[in-house]
Amino acid sequence: MQRHDNRSVDQLRPISFVTDIAPNASASVLVSFGNTKVICAVTIEEDVPRWMKMQKVEGGWLTAEYSMLPYSTLDRKRRDISSGKLDGRSSEIQRLIGRALRAAVDLSKIGQRTIWIDCDVLQADGGTRTASITGASVALAIALNKLVAAGKLSASPMKKLVSAISVGILEGTALLDLCYVEDKDAEVDMNLVMTDAGEFVEVQGSGEEAVFTEDQMSQLLALGKKGIAEITQLQREVIAAADQPKDADLQSLTEMFGSR
Ligand code: UDP
Repeated sequence: MQRHDNRSVDQLRPISFVTDIAPNASASVLVSFGNTKVICAVTIEEDVPRWMKMQKVEGGWLTAEYSMLPYSTLDRKRRDISSGKLDGRSSEIQRLIGRALRAAVDLSKIGQRTIWIDCDVLQADGGTRTASITGASVALAIALNKLVAAGKLSASPMKKLVSAISVGILEGTALLDLCYVEDKDAEVDMNLVMTDAGEFVEVQGSGEEAVFTEDQMSQLLALGKKGIAEITQLQREVIAAADQPKDADLQSLTEMFGSR
């Protein structure tokens, strides 16, 4: 099948991670999957929600928020604040991001802290939820490593790296990492969230006015697993590089804005 950007059926879009783009966050990453770009920022607060204190729950909490910036879509998307409520899609996506990242970290070992994960879509071209999870996982690992380096934790409570990818069936063909033009016409749409150990965290799959067979589902899982393995490798490299000294430009930015 000829994909509109000439990728092979099992080929990911070009992926990049730019770290430290929001220096006031505990850690931040601008993740790109082709034209889909999401700012993922992690802020660690030295406090826990009231319900945790009341119920005397040990450890901390992790929660996520997701939004699409007004100019991230082809037609301007109104901010939720102007309609007075969070739209259903954003709410579903931020709960997915929270669940995925809570699988990555041992909350009983983060101390009395709250981890905020903010995912803001800068440019949307399909797969914004999967890019959010993938970028947030990198930012979370870096933020927790910084707590260890600062002597606030004895070891990183990160249990696994999580990453996510979309797969789908378009005109009968199983495809990896769908962009918007593919996603909007796909008969089957699936989002996979997996760990670096090859375990599943969440599988969301649906036939869009269509059905799919077990055989097709196996094809989609195989494509997804291939993509996740490649993404995991890139995530590891970015996290390892974040521990190295920064280059002069980023260093001066950090000095200008400070960092936590
Ligand atoms: N999209 C959009 N406006 C919206 C919602 C979605 O332009 O309000 C586009 C956007 O490119 C997005 C794609 O539709 O990435 C697919 O949306 P979906 O809800 O499937 O989520 P995603 O694939 O981004 O996780």
